Amino acid sequence: LYAARRLLDGGHSDGSDRQVILEIFHAELAREPALAPPALYMLGDLADSLGANTTDGGSRQALTDVRQAIAVRTRDVEQALALQNAFSTLMPRPMAGPAGADQVWVPFGAEKDLWLVTLTSSFGDGAPLVVALRADPVLTALVHTNLGWRGSGMPPEVQASSNGEPLGSNFPGLSLLFPAIDVNTLAREGSLQRSFYLAALLLVLSVALSGGYLFWRDVQRELHVSEMRSQFVSSVSHELKTPLTAIRMFAETLLMGRAAQPETRNQYLETIVSESERLTRLLNNVLDFSKIEQGQKVYRLEPQPLAEIVRAAARAMQYPLSQQGFELRVKIDDDLPLVPADSDAIQQAILNLLSNAMKYSGQGRVIDLELKHDGGRATIAVTDRGLGIAAGEQTRIFEKFYRVASADHQLIPGTGLGLTLVDHVARAHRGCVTVKSAPCEGSTFSIVLPLTEAGAHELAAAKRLVVSRPV
Ligand code: ADP
Repeated sequence: LYAARRLLDGGHSDGSDRQVILEIFHAELAREPALAPPALYMLGDLADSLGANTTDGGSRQALTDVRQAIAVRTRDVEQALALQNAFSTLMPRPMAGPAGADQVWVPFGAEKDLWLVTLTSSFGDGAPLVVALRADPVLTALVHTNLGWRGSGMPPEVQASSNGEPLGSNFPGLSLLFPAIDVNTLAREGSLQRSFYLAALLLVLSVALSGGYLFWRDVQRELHVSEMRSQFVSSVSHELKTPLTAIRMFAETLLMGRAAQPETRNQYLETIVSESERLTRLLNNVLDFSKIEQGQKVYRLEPQPLAEIVRAAARAMQYPLSQQGFELRVKIDDDLPLVPADSDAIQQAILNLLSNAMKYSGQGRVIDLELKHDGGRATIAVTDRGLGIAAGEQTRIFEKFYRVASADHQLIPGTGLGLTLVDHVARAHRGCVTVKSAPCEGSTFSIVLPLTEAGAHELAAAKRLVVSRPV
């Protein structure tokens, strides 16, 4: 060390000398037992002046590292000497027993260089031995591992003081200090957490409830539709049976020659024609409905005189109406332009309305069929003076298979398809069906069709106000 100092002072050192001196530093630092403090101070001085004379970056860094190592070593040696002096007051009796078992560890030193010191006789030849550990890593491990600290919030701190929670009889003088906790923050965090769990619970509950409700509604709907389907099948067979029986009965009577009078024969034949037309209407309804359900119903719109279509429908119903004593009053406005329409579909819709008017007329025996126009719209209206429909049922009667539930309606056979088809036909012509009715006062069903573009817009706007009806 003295030679190194002289070499440096004389300015004789070069790069290779510096390397040699660095190696000497390392050897001196590693020496056991450690160098005495004066020698360590000299070593530190040497490192300082060598650093001041060095310009090369790498060597400078190496010297800084060595300087730090010297400082640590110096502090340790100084603390060891202080421990030597204070030892008799710190820990007067040597501890018996194997290392680790009930070993007492006493803190020693300043806060940064705190050591845990014990006296043990369980190493080497059994002579008492002082063991000192750097406290910092031991205490950190204690807090994080033994206390299970997971790093949320400030961890507790181990201190060499009697404030706080004592660490136990194995560590006299050491205590665990918990950082002060702001009660308000804690309460806020608690209530935040509670609201979060509450919101999550509510969310889960509402999802489960709405899922359950949707499932229940689907099942109900399916049940309802399947009930309506089976009702439909029975009513279709019933509807088919009535005209078929009539046709067969009159045909057999004619065959057996029982109708001698020509007028009677004519009447029987007309009944057969009328009943077979009724059959055709029913089958057309069922076929059209199945096409609509499959999305295959096509309407061929061509310019048509609406008055002719309405007259044809009136003619077709003349015989069955007169047979049952009905008076059909037809009022047609001939002053109408041609309308793009599927004449078969429109006629079928009017026939459905007329046959409903007949079925649900009760005691009433007058039916009005009217074709009129106002501005851009044409209206085909069928009015009866029969059972009428309660306000609550008036939007539902257009649903498929739907039939009014009251007893007087249920007595009359039907399939619940007629109005569904009328509605579909009207929509296909950019129009709509409306109903005005009151129980026991009769009903007016109107098919409203646009005659011009302006009329079509007006209708579309009016339709938007009406509850949309599933077809
Ligand atoms: P249905 O084959 O049952 O007559 P619709 O679809 O034609 O089927 O009619 C649906 C329901 O609307 C009928 O079951 C009936 O209750 C009611 N309805 C239809 N037209 C009239 C009417 N003119 N007067 C009273 N009720 C009617």
